[in-house]
Amino acid sequence: MRWPRSSRCGTRDGYIAHLRKGERPCDDCRRAYWRNGQGPDWAVLAKAYERALVRLSWRHREEFKALYADEVADAITAGESERRGGS
Ligand SMILES: [Zn+2]
Repeated sequence: MRWPRSSRCGTRDGYIAHLRKGERPCDDCRRAYWRNGQGPDWAVLAKAYERALVRLSWRHREEFKALYADEVADAITAGESERRGGS
């Protein structure tokens, strides 16, 4: 059974329902999730961000591989110039 939106707003479940629908949670739901001014749980958000990055890398595998290779090449180049500068 589908809950009417108004009955869930202002609750933690309402907050989650907004996220699952791709919506920005309304103020009432944000307040409910943030436990009245304590703010979001940053550890939970950081873990979710990491998992989203992994999922994104799988969804766009070829693009991710190219970006990764580019970053590896940059890191190797930076490491070499650091070593040259240091000695
Ligand atoms: Zn809401």
